[in-house]
Amino acid sequence: MKSFLPNPKFKVDDIISYIDLTAAEKMNLQKGMNFNVNPEYSVFLMSVRKGAPYADKFDEKTNTLIYEGHDVPSNISNTPKEVDQELTTPKGSLTENGKFFTAAKSYQTNLINHPHRIKVYEKIDSGVWCYKGFYNLIDAKIEYAGKRKVFKFYLQPVEIKSMKREVIIPFNRVIPTQVKVEVWARDKGQCVKCGSKENLHYDHDLPYSKGGTSLTAQNVRILCMKCNLSKSNKILTLPPILLP
Ligand SMILES: [Zn+2]
Repeated sequence: MKSFLPNPKFKVDDIISYIDLTAAEKMNLQKGMNFNVNPEYSVFLMSVRKGAPYADKFDEKTNTLIYEGHDVPSNISNTPKEVDQELTTPKGSLTENGKFFTAAKSYQTNLINHPHRIKVYEKIDSGVWCYKGFYNLIDAKIEYAGKRKVFKFYLQPVEIKSMKREVIIPFNRVIPTQVKVEVWARDKGQCVKCGSKENLHYDHDLPYSKGGTSLTAQNVRILCMKCNLSKSNKILTLPPILLP
């Protein structure tokens, strides 16, 4: 992995349309798992909404997002949810599961010195997406889910500080998708201050740096960029304390 773009088009927790997403990645992303969309990273699309097809979740113990691999394509003679997820296609080339599994194992066995990097977007509602940031693929496993084999990919959230330096983000700073979906419905998909539906972002009411939590909808709300900026200006321009 060579020069890395630390300056993505979006900030983490920005709410975007599917068109914004494909414009930023300069491609149509039809699948959930997209290996090496460019030389610097891959893209995962995830969804934990009710009825979402895969069981993605955040694991507090390992501070990783666990992303489930993908099923074989459906055809007339199979039921994808009843058969093993595959490492290779019938012709013998790696599936997307296989490519990411190989990348995770290459890191674990020191064949590559940096984990494979994955940009994650999560689906909030029909046509509504949220940028979730960059993750390092630190492990992968094959597990039994009932009678069949599924892949599990372990992703560690990271913040890219500069070309070289990256900081691991603790799990409780990441707003879970379920919370985002709940807030989206509660705030009716608009800025809670001015009602705008443009340039929206998930905002911590009490900032994480001041002890605010990401894990409940009570501390998360939707703000537009303008109201978000005026909020931070207000904090910066508090009147000076007059001493007696
Ligand atoms: Zn606003």
